[in-house]
Amino acid sequence: MWRKELLDVFPTINILLDEPLNRYTYTKTGGKVDALVFPETKEHIRDLVLFLNDKKIPFLVLGNASNVIVTDGGIRGVVIMLEKMTNLVVDDTTVRVESGVVLTELTDYVAQQSLTGLEFACGIPGNVGGAVFMNAGAYGGEIKDVLYSVDVVTKTGEYKTYTNKEMVFGYRHSLIQETGDIVVQTTFVLQKGHKEDILAEMDRLMQLRREKQPLEYPSCGSVFKRPEGYFAGKLIQDAHLQGHRIGGIEVSKKHAGFMVNVDSGTATDYKQLIAYVQEKVYEVFGVRLETEVRFIGEENE
Ligand code: FAD
Repeated sequence: MWRKELLDVFPTINILLDEPLNRYTYTKTGGKVDALVFPETKEHIRDLVLFLNDKKIPFLVLGNASNVIVTDGGIRGVVIMLEKMTNLVVDDTTVRVESGVVLTELTDYVAQQSLTGLEFACGIPGNVGGAVFMNAGAYGGEIKDVLYSVDVVTKTGEYKTYTNKEMVFGYRHSLIQETGDIVVQTTFVLQKGHKEDILAEMDRLMQLRREKQPLEYPSCGSVFKRPEGYFAGKLIQDAHLQGHRIGGIEVSKKHAGFMVNVDSGTATDYKQLIAYVQEKVYEVFGVRLETEVRFIGEENE
């Protein structure tokens, strides 16, 4: 019933009903969502949020779905994806970018403008909104190092801007993980550099990724956060768990911190393999591995 109303109230917004989310997730797993919505402006987002709150329909936003495992039961309610929000404006060293821009496009673009500071992010497969939410980072850099401010729509439908300090960034953490706000636009401040140096550094980092990561398979990147004083991948490797498989999901033989979908695996396989690895690593080293990847959706029906 509410879905018909959603379609009627927002005739200009692209809305897909009963859409299988494995079409979007990096792991190629996950069930259907009741409605998948693609707003194009921050006003669309605000109006949607107000409508959904009024009808008491649960909603959440997905970025490029590279750090989530959508459960096989799928998601009841609405998923909002911002891939149509791709404005990107550069003014001297200031870059204002909407959340739907993927990091590879952003880093390529600013490199062409001879702006340095975002090279670390060139191989992270998220979009800007997801990267801010996660404070994504690699090779010594993190989003927080170059972020000036973040414009959001709150979960009650207000516009708000946070400064870098207000975002309470930490290791793979930001304020948005507590507030549930929707990140709409981010302002970065970069520095002037030399295009050739920037491109060379990005090439170097991409090469490192290709050598170390199993990019040939679907995955969600590093499954676990780095436990203090250890590396998750090293613990998993030393516990001889590489190659261990449950259903179609396997602990990568190339990078023990990754779990790859080698044979039509499911979110349930992921869940079981993660629990197994956590248990074994605790048994052998007494270290509790905490997931970086986020499970969303219903349990299996
Ligand atoms: P999603 O996975 O779609 O979402 C992640 C979380 O962010 C969800 O809870 C979602 O609700 C929330 N979210 C997304 N967009 C918004 C928004 N606009 N407003 C509010 N909340 C939002 N990560 C690293 O940090 N460093 C790496 O080097 C790295 N390498 C990776 C390599 C591979 C091969 C893969 C598959 C993943 C890797 N990741 C890495 C993980 C992932 O790419 C990052 O965490 C990325 O920032 C997630 O962005 P996303 O857009 O895919 O977010």
